[in-house]
Amino acid sequence: MKLHEIGEFGYIDRIAKRFEDMSSPGFLGIGDDCAIIPCNDSEDYVITTDLLIEDIHFLKDRITPVELGHKALAVNLSDIAAMGAKPVGSFLSVGIPAETKVEYLDDVMLGYHNLSRKYNVPLLGGDTTKSKEYLTINVGVVGKCLKGSARLRSMAQEDDVVCVTGFLGDSSGGLEVLLHQLPETKDNLHLVRCHHLPEPHVNEGLWLAKHSVIHAMIDVSDGISSDLLHILKASRKSALIDIDKIPVSETLRKVALSQDWDLERLITAGGEDYVLLVTLEANSFKEINTGYKAAFGKDLYQIGNIIAGESCIKWIRNNDEIVLHQIGFNHFNKA
Ligand SMILES: [Mg+2]
Repeated sequence: MKLHEIGEFGYIDRIAKRFEDMSSPGFLGIGDDCAIIPCNDSEDYVITTDLLIEDIHFLKDRITPVELGHKALAVNLSDIAAMGAKPVGSFLSVGIPAETKVEYLDDVMLGYHNLSRKYNVPLLGGDTTKSKEYLTINVGVVGKCLKGSARLRSMAQEDDVVCVTGFLGDSSGGLEVLLHQLPETKDNLHLVRCHHLPEPHVNEGLWLAKHSVIHAMIDVSDGISSDLLHILKASRKSALIDIDKIPVSETLRKVALSQDWDLERLITAGGEDYVLLVTLEANSFKEINTGYKAAFGKDLYQIGNIIAGESCIKWIRNNDEIVLHQIGFNHFNKA
């Protein structure tokens, strides 16, 4: 059997099954944005790790080293945010081709350090090794939260509303700009910036997790058609999503129209926006949104509802149910 036949998530399932015999009370293993390890009587640790490989996750001649350092940490902080936890320290391991300039590596660390300072997350260790050809970056982040307060993918409840904390599609729009080498207009550069400098919603995640009516959370790394499905599978629910309600930036709308991009694909299957996808009690939405808006100066965008059923997303457009063939990003799937 070839790897592409089972895909990234089929492969992860095989690994998880092997370790099913080693589960311990209070621990949460493979299958959420972070693992959970009990810390003390009142707190849990949450831990995540993410690997970035040159030419797979980033194009070295397109992303600046400062942006690369930022992004390597940001994608991990985003997973901590998705648990509703506070990041407390990071680990960084790099595989480096020997001819890499030290100044380049210094700039990678400048971007990493700037974001570390922003969220007060010290670098606590890691590893450096020689790589034959490609720059490889692995980051791990440890976070903390009150015991039992971490938000899991399995927590969505029927009738919850589904919200996102920011625009979708800007990052994949930026990737399109890069891949098609579009001119450096203000709008195009904005989209590329969204792709290279994602802002993890750490403070938003912490704020949301303080409210018991917030149920499941996940960060949008692979596109909502894939990330929402993770919540639905873990929670054994389905969802009704109104494509017209998905928040889209004016910049993306404009560029997508001028370039004849499939906007629907970008906002449903485009990844790396690193906003949070959240489900919460419908009755509390107004109150939560008022508080959220006061705290962050922006809305929680309501895009649909959790409904009964087994792990299916029903898409609505212009009040009609439509069939979407988009799937989010999945390593090992054939293009
Ligand atoms: Mg995640």
